[in-house]
Amino acid sequence: MKDFNIDTKCVQGGYRPGNGEPREIPIVQSTTFKYDTGEDMGKLFDLEASGYFYTRLQNPTNDYVAAKICEMEGGSAAMLTSSGQAASFYSIFNIASCGDHIVSSSSIYGGTYNLFAVTMKRMGIDFTFVSPDCSDDELNSAFRPETKAVFGETIANPALTVLDIERFAAAAHSHGVPLIIDNTFATPVNCRPFEWGADIVTHSTTKYMDGHGAAVGGCIVDSGKFDWTAYPDKFPGLCYPDESYHGVTYTERFGLGGAYITKATAQLMRDFGSIQSPQNAFLLNLGLESLHVRMRRHCENGAAVAEYLSNNDKIAWVTYPGLPGDKYYSLAKKYMPNGTCGVVSFGVKGGRAAAQKFMQNLKIAAIETHVADARSCCLHPASTTHRQMSDEELALAGISSDLVRFSCGLESSEDLIADMEQALNNL
Ligand SMILES: *Cc1c(COP(=O)(O)O)cnc(C)c1O
Repeated sequence: MKDFNIDTKCVQGGYRPGNGEPREIPIVQSTTFKYDTGEDMGKLFDLEASGYFYTRLQNPTNDYVAAKICEMEGGSAAMLTSSGQAASFYSIFNIASCGDHIVSSSSIYGGTYNLFAVTMKRMGIDFTFVSPDCSDDELNSAFRPETKAVFGETIANPALTVLDIERFAAAAHSHGVPLIIDNTFATPVNCRPFEWGADIVTHSTTKYMDGHGAAVGGCIVDSGKFDWTAYPDKFPGLCYPDESYHGVTYTERFGLGGAYITKATAQLMRDFGSIQSPQNAFLLNLGLESLHVRMRRHCENGAAVAEYLSNNDKIAWVTYPGLPGDKYYSLAKKYMPNGTCGVVSFGVKGGRAAAQKFMQNLKIAAIETHVADARSCCLHPASTTHRQMSDEELALAGISSDLVRFSCGLESSEDLIADMEQALNNL
């Protein structure tokens, strides 16, 4: 599938049935797998043979779908997780532990910010948050000897800032650590961060990938390009023997292409068990089969709504990276020449109260915490998803108190705009 276009990978990547096998990915609805001898199974436990033994660690349905996303991103290995949160946590915890430090963009999803700044901090991992627009000096001075990775979002949810992936990758690499990119909003249809120097990609597959609001899920993809063995003391978990697996050294046994994902599966899935259910992986694959078609429409609707709002005098401001004149327009053109996403952020004149009245007046878009599915929806982050943040933290994350996040679904853009018009006229 390597040489095919992204559209073909969306439809047919990952699963290649043999003669007489099911055309559609089978749902392997089994917690466990049968073996003839104890030795056969022992080899699996020692990672000497590959195969399935317990769905808390691995399941064939998940692996077919992970292989598809891996091909779409152009990676070397991938795994599904039960949620995007689990993917973000694993992506870092796989290479960092108590006493370590991570540099993260401050403009990230609220749930990720909480995971990093509160929960992982409690585990002894420290984070320094930098603006995606910080100078090279600020970025470089955020690193410490114990820094293990840099983290950012291609298009941040909900601030819609665009990360300069090449610049952040260069800074990460010059300090001997990988760049991890949450590519949820752009999807590999619109941006493939590995082509710009990123080393690991994460997804909340709950959003566009699933696309129908049917299943919560996540994914981690490794590019296989980061050379852990150049810094063995920095990444001992990958470069030195794992005593919980009879002394296997992941980089030696599985190479640069397989070490990171094998370790995350063998250790983190074994111990935390945040695996996606095979049923959900099946539903995710149905979403992936139309992702390339749907992303085009989401982007068309996003662009039409952003343009309408930017010409409306009841609207204070509009942020949409695909809108000419947007602060991130040129970065968006560079990293996402075919379109960005369907999410538009804006302020309704009159602030917090006007924003809430506007949302109640809408007839098509529902008020939901969700984004990025077939049905349009909207949210006021300052009073919901980000309510635990102070005004100062909100500002650092690029969120003002009047911000409405509007996720354009797959409906007619004419209808969406007419609905917004009546909602604004009835304020
Ligand atoms: C939703 C989201 C997450 C968290 O994913 P869940 O599937 O809800 O756990 C992480 N990153 C981004 C950019 C998101 O939009």
